[in-house]
Order: sequence, then C-alpha cells, then structure tokens
Amino acid sequence: MRWIITMECIGEDGNKSTVVLGVIERAADGTVPENVGVNLNESQRILRSLQETVVGQQLQEHCERNRRCSGCGTLRAVKDYRRRRLDTVLGTVRPQSPRYHACRHCAGSRGSNPIAGLLPGRMTPELRHLQVSLGAQTSYRKAARLLRELLPPTGGTNHATTRNRVMAIGERIDEEIQHEIKENRTAENPARQMIIGIDGAFVKGHRRHRTDRASLEIITGRIETETEAGKRFVIVGDRDGQAKQRLRALLRRMGRSSETKDRVLSDGEDGMRSMVGRWFHGNEQRILDWYHIARRFEAIGKSLLYLPHVEDFGDRLGRHWHHLSRARWKVWHGNWEGAHLALASFYDGVNIHTRQAEKEARRTTSLQEICTRLNELWSYLTANKRHLINYGKEHREGNPISTARVESTVNQSVDWRMEKKQHMRWTPRGAQMLLHARCALLNGDLGKYTGWSLSRTSVPEAVAA
Ligand SMILES: [Zn+2]
Repeated sequence: MRWIITMECIGEDGNKSTVVLGVIERAADGTVPENVGVNLNESQRILRSLQETVVGQQLQEHCERNRRCSGCGTLRAVKDYRRRRLDTVLGTVRPQSPRYHACRHCAGSRGSNPIAGLLPGRMTPELRHLQVSLGAQTSYRKAARLLRELLPPTGGTNHATTRNRVMAIGERIDEEIQHEIKENRTAENPARQMIIGIDGAFVKGHRRHRTDRASLEIITGRIETETEAGKRFVIVGDRDGQAKQRLRALLRRMGRSSETKDRVLSDGEDGMRSMVGRWFHGNEQRILDWYHIARRFEAIGKSLLYLPHVEDFGDRLGRHWHHLSRARWKVWHGNWEGAHLALASFYDGVNIHTRQAEKEARRTTSLQEICTRLNELWSYLTANKRHLINYGKEHREGNPISTARVESTVNQSVDWRMEKKQHMRWTPRGAQMLLHARCALLNGDLGKYTGWSLSRTSVPEAVAA
C-alpha cells in the first residue's frame, strides 16, 4: 500500500498549488507490529517537508510584499538569492530569500535583505520556548537528548546550546528585575494585603577558587495578594549583595506599597529567621510557619514506635501519645504555657519508660533520639516564641498559617531540577539564571520571555474540509 501526502496551498490571489510532502509505503502482506501505523521517523520527514513548504511560501510572499521601493513604489531589482537557515520545532529548513538592489529612482535608497531581523537567532520562538522549558525541567543533557530524539533534525539541540538558551532567558528576567530595582516606582494598584511565604534550601556550589562557597543558599518563596494568584520566586542568596533589593522589587511588582499589610510566613531556623528580619522593615506580621512545627511533632510521634517494649507497653505508648498530641493541640491554639506543661508530662512519661526498660535490660537508644528531637522542638519554639500565633483561630478565619505550598515550591524549583543526588555543582550565576527560567515556567510567564505566547488552547481547531 502507498499513501501520498499532498498539501494544497491557496495564496492571497486565490491561486492554488499542490506540493507532495511525502510517501508512506508498506508491503501488502507484511503486516508485522512494527509496520503498523506511521512511525516517528516517517512523520519527522513529512513534518519537515511541511515546514519547509510553509516557511518557503511565507517568506516568498513576505519578500514580494517588501520588494517595492518605499519611496516611489517601483519594483526593485534582485541582487542575488541566498539560502537562510532557520531552526524550527519541525526541523531545520533552508528557504531561499532574495536581496534587493537599491531603488534606481530614489537617491539615498539602499539595498536590502527583506528577512533580516524577521527571525532573530535564526530560530522560531516556539523552538526556543520548548528548549528552555525542557532545560528548566530536566538536566541540559537530558533536555537536548529529548529534543534530538523526538523532533525532526534541527540545529542547536546539544546541551551547551540548551544551557546557553536557558541562561539567556534567565538573564532577560534578571535584567527586568535590575531595571525595577533602579526604577523604584510605586505600585499602580497597591495591594491591601500580601502574603509572603519564604523558605530556603542549599545546593552544592561549584568551587573554582578556594574562597568560593561550598554550598549556595537558595531562598524561595511565594507571594500572594487578594487579587493575584501565587507567584513563585527564587533568589540565590547574596550573590551580589542585592538579594534584599531583588525581593523588594519582586514585591513591588506584585503591588506592594507602604500601605500594604505584609504577612510573612517562614521557617524559624536561625539563618532564615535572621534573614527575614533583615529583609523586611519590621512592620510586617511575621508568623512561624505551622508546617515546620507540625513536621517536628510528627517526627517525635514516629520515634515513639521504636521505644523498647516494656511492661504495660500499650498503656504507656497511649499516654505518651496523649501528652504529645495535647502539646501539639496547645501550640495550635497559641497556648504556650499549656504546650510547655504537656511537653513536660510527655518527657516525664518517656523518662519513666526508659527506667523501666533499663530495669528489664532492654535497648534504650530510641529514648536519646526522642530527647534530642524534643530539645530541638523546644528551642525552636522558644526562639520563635514571638512569631507563634493562634493557628486554629487564624485557620478558621481563612488566614494562611502554613507554607506547605512554599515547601512544595522548594521541591518544585530546587530539589528536583538541581539534582542533589547527581552531584551537580552550581555557580551562583548558573543557579540563579536557571531558577529564574524555572520560576517563570512554573508561574506561567515563560512565554513572555521566549516570545512564544500561543498556548495550546489558543490554537484554533482544524477546520473540517
Ligand atoms: Zn524608489
């Protein structure tokens, strides 16, 4: 069997032309699984010739339209034809395009190349968008390999180009932020309230010099206002002493003004606590993120299961559990004294449990673990006492009390892409540019920077013939 794929083109003038895009052939009796359907290779060939035809005809029309002299309207003479390279998602195409002589009648007229400036970088915005989007989601090598495996052969699909293109988009985003820092303009529609969730992570740094840091601190977060859905941001900790200005520029962009009430939710670990203190002006409401408190209680709860089995184990475990839940409940309701008492009872109970275990000569290492965790929880809560609130009440009133979503931003933007496990090492600039691109992708803004704004939904359905 043979299938001939032809395409009919109808020009502006109504003239029709037909082009054969490709032929698919299958032996009559050779229906083996691998012969069923059109395969990737065939479809790539057909798509490439489809692209070649469409681009060729589009450019031809464009050049003809621009052939007339803008001064007197005379058709200009063709100087020569040249093949131009254009990388697209459907393969590299090499359409021919003319160069025109200057107009004979008009003084000061110059020769021209009508497609100069039409496609910067000799690639379509769609290819740039796809490549940057993949490069922001997976390693540059993997992204390049995917493009090579799935697309018809097109230029620039190696890992170095992929990295350069992601970096270039990151630079554009960074320039925009720099510009906003300099401009320092006030928000047009100031937000009344702004919720800022902040969290941090570390990735391995690339050490070229001895003075380079072994790890880079990544500050990530999410900004929400009453009108705008959450926007993620990532700042590589003080790369150039401008982290604070960067955050402020981002907040201004979201509509923060001097009247805006800030509510900052963050982890209360030492570094994060002092950083948040430095970054904000002190008028904001700072809250210790419930997520980080709950996580600590959970860890202690889990280690209870490994306590040694002693006499009345079930009853004891039940009592430990009761005290621990009570402490958690008290913290949830902002009852600091109550939490203190419940944790003290919890500690006593576990202590008695251990003494009993020693009497029965059973292992007691799990007690040490619980004590360490309990101490840690205690000093964590004490250090952040000022930022504890009545979580239950706030939660019922619909106010955010947890940055679990920010935590997932950490995972979305840092953990996965930065490949902690694969021993990737990052320069501050490399990390920041990648994370800018990645945030833009997660925020749905990437198209603004790649020049590719067509989303799937805005492409019209194919018109039935
Ligand atoms: Zn002229």
